Amino acid sequence: MSDLVYARVQSHFARLKLNRLPDCLDPIAEEATKRQATYIEFLDHLLSAEIAARLERDIAMKTKLAHFPVIKTLDGFDFAFQPSIDERQIRELATLRFVNHGENLLLLGPPGTGKTHLAIALGMLAISQGVSVYFLTVADLLDIVHRDAKEDRLGHRLQAFCRPKLFILDEMGYFPLDRLAAQFLFQLVSRRYQKTSLIITSNKSYGEWGEIFADQVLASAILDRVLHHSTTINIRGQSYRLREKRQAGIFHDLTLPGKEE
Ligand code: ADP
Ligand code: MG
Repeated sequence: MSDLVYARVQSHFARLKLNRLPDCLDPIAEEATKRQATYIEFLDHLLSAEIAARLERDIAMKTKLAHFPVIKTLDGFDFAFQPSIDERQIRELATLRFVNHGENLLLLGPPGTGKTHLAIALGMLAISQGVSVYFLTVADLLDIVHRDAKEDRLGHRLQAFCRPKLFILDEMGYFPLDRLAAQFLFQLVSRRYQKTSLIITSNKSYGEWGEIFADQVLASAILDRVLHHSTTINIRGQSYRLREKRQAGIFHDLTLPGKEE
C-alpha cells in the first residue's frame, strides 16, 4: 500500500467518523496478510472493530446517564441465598421482553434482600441492549420535585423523566410522599403508562402503599396504572447485608422493620 493510499484511507476514516479504525487498521491488515484472509473477511474484521468500539462507548455513556449508585450484575447475584426468588422468572425478565412491551416490574421485600441489586442488574442489561435507563431513589425524587417546584421547572422535569425507556424508582416506602410529589409521580406514571417501563422497589406491600402517600385516591390511581401490565416479585428472606454479621454470630434472629417473614 503506497503512503498516499494509506494517508487517504486514514482521511476517509476521519471524514466518516470511524474513530476506532485509525488504530486498528495496521494490526488488522497484518493479521489478514498472515492468515491470507479474503478482502471481505478483512473488511468484516475492520467494521466489527468499529462497531464494537461504538457499542462500548454507547454503553459507557448510557451507564453514566443512568446515575446508578453502584454497578451490579445478574452474574453477581447469589440466587441460592434468596430461595424465595425464582431464578427462572428473573432470567425471563433479563430477556427484557417486559421493557420492549412497556410493562412494569415491582420488586417488593424487606431491606437487604437484593431489590436494588436486581433493579440495577436489569438496568445494566437493558443498557447493553441499547435501552436508555434512569435510576432515582424516592428520597432524591422528593428533593428534585420540591426544588423544581420553587424554580417553576416541574413540567420540564416531567418531560425529561418520560424520555428514558426504563425508569427505576428505588426505595418506595422509606419516605412519605407529600401531595406535590404524589401528584408528580401520578403524572409520570400516567405519561409513561403502556409506552415505557418502570421498575419500582419497595419494602412495603401494596396494602401499605396508602400510608406512603398523603393522598389515598392518588395512591390507588398510581398503583392501578403501575400494576395494569406488570410483574411483581415478592422477596421473602434474610438480609444479605447482615449475612456476614449473622455468620460471625453477631446477630442471631434479627427482626427488621418491614421484614415480611
Ligand atoms: P435492598 O435494595 O433489597 O435493600 P440491596 O439490593 O441493596 O438490597 O442489597 C444489599 C447488598 O447486598 C448489596 O450490596 C447487594 O449487592 C447485596 N446482595 C443482596 N442480595 C444478594 C444476593 N442474593 N447475592 C449477592 N449479593 C446480594
Ligand atoms: Mg435498596
